[in-house]
Amino acid sequence: MMPFSGQVMTFPSTCGACATQCECRMFVTNIPYFQEVIVMASSCDACGYRNSEVKPGGRIPLKGKKIKVHVKNIKDLNRDVIKSDTASIKIPEIDLELVSGTLGGLVTTVEGLISKISESLERVHGFTFGDSLDDTRRRKWKEFRTRLDKLKSLDEPWTLIIDDALANSFVSPVADDIKDDNQLTLEEYERSWEQNEELGLNDMDTSSADAAYGSADVESSNDG
Ligand SMILES: [Zn+2]
Repeated sequence: MMPFSGQVMTFPSTCGACATQCECRMFVTNIPYFQEVIVMASSCDACGYRNSEVKPGGRIPLKGKKIKVHVKNIKDLNRDVIKSDTASIKIPEIDLELVSGTLGGLVTTVEGLISKISESLERVHGFTFGDSLDDTRRRKWKEFRTRLDKLKSLDEPWTLIIDDALANSFVSPVADDIKDDNQLTLEEYERSWEQNEELGLNDMDTSSADAAYGSADVESSNDG
């Protein structure tokens, strides 16, 4: 499914859900139009729990990246998605906004991402409701879940926005050339001082960053 190449390493791990011994696969990949990333994926034979993490393999990019996908058809739902844990997710049509850190890092598809959001919110809301009879909140959550499901049935076109301050997220183009994919837009932006502060970059010496990433927009602090 994923356009991955490169050697896969496996090492023993424990399941994050049931603590059974399982295998973690790790591979470094170079995705077209994307930087090198390290993907660590594990799935548990005992309980079916799956987990994937994405780590940047290269230098810290000097700019953040906003990916916007107009989802209209099944091809869009099948696009590969890498969402790093520094990415936030927005779906304006249903007023959904998940801050960075929510869901962690994921390797999935557009459709899989919606399922993951639904599952994750279900867990949170199921927990919150407990045995209480908070009917209003329960009804609101069910309404929202219906709207989430409708995204997958493509009743109406919608927009997925993945905003990653460290530019470690990716959505695959459906065209051979990314320039021909007019439903996918990428926008690079300067991180704010606050974003750098949140990422701990203001105190980091980034002067060794590859010049290929552009001029040094991040102040380096060599005076320490
Ligand atoms: Zn397990």
